[in-house]
Amino acid sequence: MKKLLLAIAIAGVFTQANAQVHKTKNLIVVTLDGMRWQEVYRGADSALLNSNFTDDKADVKKKYWADAAEDRRKLLFPFFWSVVSTQGQLYGNRDLGNKDELANQYRFSYPGYNEIFTGFPDVRMNTNDPITNPNMNVLEYINKQKGFEGKVIAFSSWERFPQILNVNRSGLPVYSGYSDLKNTDANARLKYLNELQHHVPHYLGDSTRLDFITFEYSKEYIKQYKPRVLFMAFDETDDMAHEGNYKLYLERARQEDGFIKELWNMLQNDPFYKNNTTLLITTDHGRGETPLAGWKGHGADVPGAEQTWFAVIGPDTPPTGEVKTATTTYHKQLAQTMAQLLGFDFKKNAGHEAGDAIGTVIK
Ligand SMILES: [Zn+2]
Repeated sequence: MKKLLLAIAIAGVFTQANAQVHKTKNLIVVTLDGMRWQEVYRGADSALLNSNFTDDKADVKKKYWADAAEDRRKLLFPFFWSVVSTQGQLYGNRDLGNKDELANQYRFSYPGYNEIFTGFPDVRMNTNDPITNPNMNVLEYINKQKGFEGKVIAFSSWERFPQILNVNRSGLPVYSGYSDLKNTDANARLKYLNELQHHVPHYLGDSTRLDFITFEYSKEYIKQYKPRVLFMAFDETDDMAHEGNYKLYLERARQEDGFIKELWNMLQNDPFYKNNTTLLITTDHGRGETPLAGWKGHGADVPGAEQTWFAVIGPDTPPTGEVKTATTTYHKQLAQTMAQLLGFDFKKNAGHEAGDAIGTVIK
């Protein structure tokens, strides 16, 4: 009996030790809505640059054109193709045979974000309407774990995330659209953002905040409150594509790469986050490719809109750069990947089906 107890005790120690091998203590997730893998891996598209979808062609070409795809993508995503490509991983370059895609069949935003955060491409989540998500999401799950209570937050440009992340059940603070941060002890900069966001022109309507404000809230919130998990959701790439404005689609992508760079540098210069924070960057869906105008849209009937990408950088991720293996990853695997990086098992505790973690992301 004593031997058995000893064996159980040792097994317990090993399980605990195993759960603690990861260095990731904090997680930042960033999404660029409807950003195509084509531009992430090939840079600006010559057919679109030379089409009626691009205004000010000479200026846009000067900023984003180079003959080789490897040079063009550096002009569009300089942070991805300097820091992430040498210190992290990038999945979904189909030109190299590596595929990342959606498991859901709908290929638009609510089903896309539902899949990322619940790990479950539930066919009931098939609308962008404000329906309440019945499925537990990984942010909600992490927020219940010891040391993470009240340390998980989301800022998004699009207004739909309180429903996607079911704030009524999850209790997560989710600041979406032009909603004001409620913390009464917020510093002067955060309080100023609460004023400023109502004065900037609401070019995308009242339902979608401009991305630079979503970024500023996230950045200032991190400085003051040190959340352990933060989700920052941008939207403008999708809006500009629907408008058929390739110049602004590229410019917003370039700006968001710069925001992510600024955020990463800030984290790596903050002792709280330095070398113990994983950054995951992805998108909710792809877009069409052929015919050319297919680029504007996405959805179940748009071929290629299931094709996505993701990038990751952090202390537990081998710095293998651009993934060149002929494998396919699915966005339903991201929730369990996020949980495992922090030492948790979401799949076992979600209460619904969920994809397996992507093993190559974690050492
Ligand atoms: Zn869209």
